[in-house]
Amino acid sequence: MTDAKILSGKDTAQAVYHDLNNRIISLADKNIRPGLCVVLIGDDPASQIYVRTKTKKLRSLGLLSESILLPSNVKEKKVIKIINDLNNDSKYHGILVQFPLPDHITTQNIINSIKPEKDVDGFHPENVGWLSIGKPRFIPCTPKGIMRILDHYNIDLNGKNIVVIGRSNIVGRPISILTSLNSQGANGTCTICHSRTKNIEKFTINADVIITAIGRPNYLKGDMIKSGVVLIDVGINRVNSDNEKGYVIVGDVDWDSVIDKVSLITPVPGGVGPMTIAMLVENTIEAAEKFG
Ligand code: NAP
Repeated sequence: MTDAKILSGKDTAQAVYHDLNNRIISLADKNIRPGLCVVLIGDDPASQIYVRTKTKKLRSLGLLSESILLPSNVKEKKVIKIINDLNNDSKYHGILVQFPLPDHITTQNIINSIKPEKDVDGFHPENVGWLSIGKPRFIPCTPKGIMRILDHYNIDLNGKNIVVIGRSNIVGRPISILTSLNSQGANGTCTICHSRTKNIEKFTINADVIITAIGRPNYLKGDMIKSGVVLIDVGINRVNSDNEKGYVIVGDVDWDSVIDKVSLITPVPGGVGPMTIAMLVENTIEAAEKFG
């Protein structure tokens, strides 16, 4: 691996936490301790790990972080009632519902029930609207983290051809908006591809920056990219392995076939993942500053 090519999310996250310390101290001076409550439904092992990691990080910084665990057969009405209580609980500046939700619960109903001022995931339609008009309030954590990595490494998107693969409301759609906003570090020309896009390689081959968020291991190959491209790999995929754990985590990018052609690349793990957590911490602090 060529270290010079690595865009480290771990290092960028460290810089973020360093900057956040002063903001945590300023809030403490005003007797405000930023607080987050995570709602986890069911017993999906990956979701449990995500919630534990987030909780641990917030607590390590002295923030209040609690979680409510609900059984997978919980009724949607009950979840909304719990969220309403959290909306009215001044201890919590942020509320996060861990996705995916069980099939009998309508995700959008849950998102809509979170008070927009506490929506630190930035998924509420009101916050999506603010982002779309270029006046973001809470920016979804993963796309915000990607923009921060690019900024940390002085990668200006101005005038660049950006290709985003994946159009989810969590990653693909918001990063396509952020990269093309008329703002410092953005101003890219963004094309968004998805499962119905024909001949994706015709788009990726001309891209200066490619952001993959599809959840398909080793999807993006060397013959789909031009030399010098910047690759941001959002994918988190478990692939069977004969190691102790029985699996390894890989991204959407086929590392071996792209590494000689890229100018810069985010690794998996250690790339976008740590930044998603750092941005959740930042959004919780922002919520406490603005609405605490
Ligand atoms: P998602 O909701 O399942 O969306 C996947 C998107 O990829 C969809 O838009 C889908 O197209 C598109 N897609 C799927 N297969 C494709 C293909 N072969 N060619 C082109 N497009 C394809 O997933 P998500 O929540 O956005 O997450 C995407 C990946 O990022 C997952 O691996 C997830 O674990 C990871 N992730 C990582 C972080 C992090 O912190 N690093 C955070 C969030 C997500 P259609 O819309 O046409 O179906």
